[in-house]
Amino acid sequence: VVETLPDMIEASVKTHGKAPALEFFGAVTSYRDLGEQIERAAEGLCRLGVAKGDRVALILPNCPQHVVAFYAVLRLGAIVVEHNPLYTPRELRHQFEDHEAKFAIVWDKVYDVVDDFPQDVRPEQIVAVDMTEAFPWSKRVALRLPVAKAREARAKLTAKPRAKHPVSWDSLVGGRRLPRRTPRPSVDDIALLQYTSGTTGSPKGAILTHGNLRANAMQGRAWVPGLREGEETFYGVLPLFHAYGMTLCLTFAMSIGARLVLFPTFDVSLVSEAAKKSPPTFLPAVPPIYDQLSRASAQGSIDLTSVRFAISGAMSLPVATVERWEEATGGLLVEGYGMTETSPVALGNPIGPSRRPGTVGVPFPSTEIRVVDPDDPSVDVEAGEPGELLIRGPQVFQGYWRRPGESADSLLEGGWVRSGDIVTVAPDGFVTIVDRLKELIITGGFNVSPTEVEETLQQHPDVADAAVVALPRRDGGEIVAAAVVLRPGATIDVNTLRDFCRTRLAAYKVPKRVFVVEDLPRSLIGKVLRREVRSRLLGEA
Ligand code: ATP
Ligand code: MG
Repeated sequence: VVETLPDMIEASVKTHGKAPALEFFGAVTSYRDLGEQIERAAEGLCRLGVAKGDRVALILPNCPQHVVAFYAVLRLGAIVVEHNPLYTPRELRHQFEDHEAKFAIVWDKVYDVVDDFPQDVRPEQIVAVDMTEAFPWSKRVALRLPVAKAREARAKLTAKPRAKHPVSWDSLVGGRRLPRRTPRPSVDDIALLQYTSGTTGSPKGAILTHGNLRANAMQGRAWVPGLREGEETFYGVLPLFHAYGMTLCLTFAMSIGARLVLFPTFDVSLVSEAAKKSPPTFLPAVPPIYDQLSRASAQGSIDLTSVRFAISGAMSLPVATVERWEEATGGLLVEGYGMTETSPVALGNPIGPSRRPGTVGVPFPSTEIRVVDPDDPSVDVEAGEPGELLIRGPQVFQGYWRRPGESADSLLEGGWVRSGDIVTVAPDGFVTIVDRLKELIITGGFNVSPTEVEETLQQHPDVADAAVVALPRRDGGEIVAAAVVLRPGATIDVNTLRDFCRTRLAAYKVPKRVFVVEDLPRSLIGKVLRREVRSRLLGEA
């Protein structure tokens, strides 16, 4: 029976052995070879001392070694802890202080950062993956990635002699296959500590089991109509270290024997080059990526008509983005919703003519939802009224790593998880995300959804981007404030923009203050960090 993630990947290796599993800058690995590499890496990790229940930190960009490391760690019943390789040394150290992993598999560019951690935080064994040697063109990508971090690390390196040497990934995976009798994980064992994005606070480690992750992959298979086993081509443009890219590309795609084309970073020209050889059929991405690809597609510099499944999640998908994509490619773009705590997908639009732009669709298979009063989540709101979304299903996490208080607050009796998102549900069951509870602005007793105001500002032809946040008022209340990025060459003044809002929004929603800014701070997956916008505006106000 297939219950755990190692069971799942082994089943794909068996069924789709000859089919391509991975493609990276043109180099292709078959499922059989991937299975072989996972076995050897697992044996190497075992020799290094990795055992069931150990936490193994991964700090890797999207690359074949990332996929191999992920499944090798899981095969041993050890726990994968994913990290954003672009985090600053300080952010990474905080995460290591939290999970205390004894082992780490890292991109050689960040080896010095991890090696430099204080004695009690530094992992006992650090495996370094040298991507430059294996793939010369990765230099081009590396240059654009953590330049500042590499510089910082180098400065430290010259200041003090290196204490220990890394174990090289190549030497680790060059040996024997793992003996068959090596203990395997079971369905309720922890597979992953997946940190949340840290949009509303510091990132929290969500505990996800093999059962959770496999459930979400299976729910995806039940949701997508007309999937062709062994014949789909997924484009891995989202980071694998984030819950969205991880589930769509590492578990869902590989459970159906798909070809996964990996991109270490999103870049229109890289995608366009790859599409000539392996046209994508399945594209999980986010709105800013769809906008860039639509533009390139409309200009004729890329052909994306092969995409049958274009999926957007992680942040709200503007209807304008849907229209641009559908006009440029002739395919449908549908929106889903999820959170790290739900492995991550919980809701999705039907993939077909009944999908509804502007909504996140309906609950995934075997997923239930409730809409409750955020002040008392035991009370459901009246049908159609806004309230906090609760979710229950086999993909719901087990709590946050070492945060009993926050776990109890977010996991309610009966297995419901609080989303922290305010939603409304239409009579036919389609769900609309209004906003995050923590980001709603309360001004003069009214609730203002920043998303609604942002969408209004974005309708102005001179506005390229906008973020709306609360700023404190002298009397202790809040005012609505907007940061807008103008299109190149636009010179509109802020009062004209406020007039524009006034004709479209109730007076209390119109931003009291509008700031023209150069750019908006975004997380690596592309979410606008409203918290960061707010502190920047506070500095200016
Ligand atoms: P943190 O929990 O650390 O503050 P985060 O909630 O952004 O960060 P994730 O788990 O990556 O971390 O993101 C889940 C959140 O993303 C959801 O709670 C929701 O606010 C938002 N989200 C996901 N999909 C959508 C969508 N389709 N539309 C709007 N918001 C979405
Ligand atoms: Mg969250």
